[in-house]
Amino acid sequence: MPCRSRGLPLNRRQLMAGAAAIAFVPALSANAQSRPRVVIVGGGVGGATAAKDIRLLAGNAIDVSIVSGSETYYPPFAIHAFKAPQGCAVEPVTVSETVSNAGVSVVPLNARRIETGKRRVVLDSSGTGPEALEYDILIAAPGVALNWDGVGDVRGSRRDPLWIANASCADVLDLFKAVPEGGRLAITAPSGGHRCPPAVYERACLGARWFKQHNPTATILLIDDKDSYPLQAQFETAYADYYEGVIEWVPRDFHGGIESVDFDSGAVVARDETFKADVLNVIPPQTAARILAEAGLTDESGYAPIDATTMRSAIDENIYVIGDAASVGELSKSAHAAQVEARLAACDIVLRLLQMKVEERIQVSDTCWSTVAPDDAVYMAATYEAAGTGFKTVERTTSDVDDDATLRQQNAAAAAAWRGKLLQALYGPH
Ligand SMILES: Cc1cc2nc3c(=O)[nH]c(=O)nc-3n(C[C@H](O)[C@H](O)[C@H](O)COP(=O)(O)OP(=O)(O)OC[C@H]3O[C@@H](n4cnc5c(N)ncnc54)[C@H](O)[C@@H]3O)c2cc1C
Repeated sequence: MPCRSRGLPLNRRQLMAGAAAIAFVPALSANAQSRPRVVIVGGGVGGATAAKDIRLLAGNAIDVSIVSGSETYYPPFAIHAFKAPQGCAVEPVTVSETVSNAGVSVVPLNARRIETGKRRVVLDSSGTGPEALEYDILIAAPGVALNWDGVGDVRGSRRDPLWIANASCADVLDLFKAVPEGGRLAITAPSGGHRCPPAVYERACLGARWFKQHNPTATILLIDDKDSYPLQAQFETAYADYYEGVIEWVPRDFHGGIESVDFDSGAVVARDETFKADVLNVIPPQTAARILAEAGLTDESGYAPIDATTMRSAIDENIYVIGDAASVGELSKSAHAAQVEARLAACDIVLRLLQMKVEERIQVSDTCWSTVAPDDAVYMAATYEAAGTGFKTVERTTSDVDDDATLRQQNAAAAAAWRGKLLQALYGPH
């Protein structure tokens, strides 16, 4: 129950008892006779969780719509294995199926802009649906945008980095298949924070695993624009144990910083070194999806500042920003965190509409699993406390680099169980 994590004495029955009052909260509803309208931009982990939780807590008393961009959602966190021999283990998700039994309407159009003054979202409808949706409360969960300017000079036919929620498992497989026999894949990692900090290195393990089976002389060069990364010792152990001679990691200290990439020639030019590869997987720095900057909802960090106890925007009190688009201090940009933030927002929205008092001390936790081999996963986990406009770490743990095989197997099982549980919570029956 989302509100229990806030220490509130609420359950569904109590919320439902108050839910009838929602329709008559004039401060929030433009039309006092209609149900308050919550519009959610983005139908990924954050958006879908918030939609389901609001309905779970408030039933029919609140009208919830998701502007999902498209019919399908490709969960970026789910691509961690391929089915033998060359098939994909992850199917895309149809957003409407995930939330329709929760009574949420899905508009599979792109949100073009958020007009905060008019409290409406203008859609890319081209006559195929509504032109705009008005809201009392907006939840923005559009994920991240890729900042290609942050890569330097980008030449040639740009290859999609397969990093945002439009990339399928088959696309990732095609990336590895594009490498010729005995060829080289270069993966570049950005310097700043990015979604799921260990994910670049997990992708390298995934590629190395596929190469070992299907292209055993191919290699991966990981060109990092930083000098260290999360779970580094654990990944280096995995490279040595499973992918000896396949993965090579090059830190910024060695090359001096990436200055340009050329997708056609496969060159990655850094200040002190030029690297060549057959295929490039360039992962640019990231910011919140552009629609938020255009609406004036981001700050100099490129992300949307929020109040961490509620996920309410620090700029517009009728807007909540959740998931990777939010500026959340020390909390990871992860699916796990997006789910937790969605629950904080859903809870606050329902409590606010019911005009109930909120608890101020909020603790949340998140775990980022990285599957480095079929029976081996490493993790970083932390508990955080909401502190003003961000979350501060209370306690952090990681898997130990010396964990024995049994423990690592248990980690892999726990990672699979976590993914299953999250997907079930999102897409299973309401
Ligand atoms: C390779 C990889 C591995 C990862 N592994 C893990 C992991 O092991 N554990 C973990 O917890 N996290 C992991 N993550 C991170 C996780 O995927 C993200 O943190 C999570 O998806 C964020 O959820 P979100 O809802 O904020 O954004 P997203 O999942 O990106 O969803 C946003 C949705 O909004 C839509 N959208 C954007 N703009 C608009 C618009 N204008 N109009 C309408 N719709 C719009 C997008 O198309 C998308 O469907 C991984 C990420 C990657 C890339």
